[in-house]
Amino acid sequence: MLNFNPTGIEQIDDEKLRIVWEDEHESVYSFRFLRQNCPCAACRDEWSGEMLFDPSEVPEDVRSMRAEMVGNYAISFAFSDGHGTGIYSFENLRRLCQCRECSHHLGSETN
Ligand SMILES: [Zn+2]
Ligand SMILES: [Zn+2]
Repeated sequence: MLNFNPTGIEQIDDEKLRIVWEDEHESVYSFRFLRQNCPCAACRDEWSGEMLFDPSEVPEDVRSMRAEMVGNYAISFAFSDGHGTGIYSFENLRRLCQCRECSHHLGSETN
């Protein structure tokens, strides 16, 4: 059972965000990656989870202009490409963790 409570959320630089979880796991995300994985209804089919846009079209230098807590379960980002409707639940963010350990658990999805 994964723990989805962050104890620390920190913007490392223009490009990266770090989240430290209650179980001391640490996740680092590029804002481009987060933007590419936007969970909003315009970016992702609600039922199939299929992406509704081409992730390669996300600008290389996209960054977060603003990050806001949504309740106590999620963060929303206002990205520099003008998109800001995605609400990233902590559960989703933890699943998106790109560290070696977490990518390993995804198995075939990393191919
Ligand atoms: Zn979106
Ligand atoms: Zn991880």
